Amino acid sequence: MSSILSFSSSPHFVDHRTGPHHPERPDRIRAIAAAVRAAGLVDSANPFPEFSLNFGPFPPPASKLLELPEPTPADEKWIELIHPRAHIEHVRHVCEVGGGVLDQGDTPVSPESFDVAKLAVGAVLQACDAVIAGTAARAFAAVRPPGHHAEPDRAMGFCLFANVAIAARYLQARHGIGKIAIVDFDVHHGNGTQAAFEADPSILFISLHQDPRTCYPGSGYAWETGEGAGQGTVINLPMDPGSGDAEYLAAFHGRVLPALDAFKPEMLLISAGFDAHRDDPLAQIELSEEAFEQMTRLLVQAADAHTKGRLISALEGGYNLRALGRSVVRHLAGLQRAGGL
Ligand SMILES: [Zn+2]
Repeated sequence: MSSILSFSSSPHFVDHRTGPHHPERPDRIRAIAAAVRAAGLVDSANPFPEFSLNFGPFPPPASKLLELPEPTPADEKWIELIHPRAHIEHVRHVCEVGGGVLDQGDTPVSPESFDVAKLAVGAVLQACDAVIAGTAARAFAAVRPPGHHAEPDRAMGFCLFANVAIAARYLQARHGIGKIAIVDFDVHHGNGTQAAFEADPSILFISLHQDPRTCYPGSGYAWETGEGAGQGTVINLPMDPGSGDAEYLAAFHGRVLPALDAFKPEMLLISAGFDAHRDDPLAQIELSEEAFEQMTRLLVQAADAHTKGRLISALEGGYNLRALGRSVVRHLAGLQRAGGL
């Protein structure tokens, strides 16, 4: 199987401005751009030469990433696969009048944020197209704003549009994919993705996250398992505060991989948040960078078994810049490694 891994991002992702002291900040994209270059994964010029951070040593890269061209904003007809027109127009309006707050203080937007959010969706759809075309076996899109908290009818938790949920519907509507699995290892519950698909048996949604009794957004209990025809295709795996690599890998072997084997998806998507890192300021999970690579390699194996190796990953959270950069590099290393452990 091809092991070509594509990488998409855009210097414009820093144009979504969230104000001073907001954790979901433009430097997250600058840190990832710097980290992938420090790791020797890409050769192109860093669009943010003024940004510097000491990431420490990286393992030698398996190969270079295939850098996709600058993405274009998603056509709103694809965003409408998940979000009603009223939500799209609300985000557009708040941005057009100069910016403001979309979600009780959590989700500030600047005038540019509407266009940047459409660009984020566009980058994830571009990643889908690259994998469908066979240009790459797997793809990672480093985007912001993130998406997994955005519910169909509202922005929430730093998220405007549900990037990965839109990608799943796009793969079905545009490319004729049937069953899709989404694995979300961001430390927060992917409530937006769950809301979009909880009654849909064609999408398996698996979220590992810190126990909702102790962490935003307060949903994602184990008893939330889908509704109606989608009963059983939502799997929530709440993790106790203080959980680390052993607990997460046990959950992967005990729950995530068996569920993927039973569901037999035709495509695998990852909501890749890195805020379960032990140095992240927003939660109390204690993962190492190594764990992100190991979880990723297990998902690559599942993709090899079920989806002809096809896998698309998109950035969600991760708020310690050094940990974010280092963890993204380890995720990319896992995505580059076809075959067994
Ligand atoms: Zn998160």
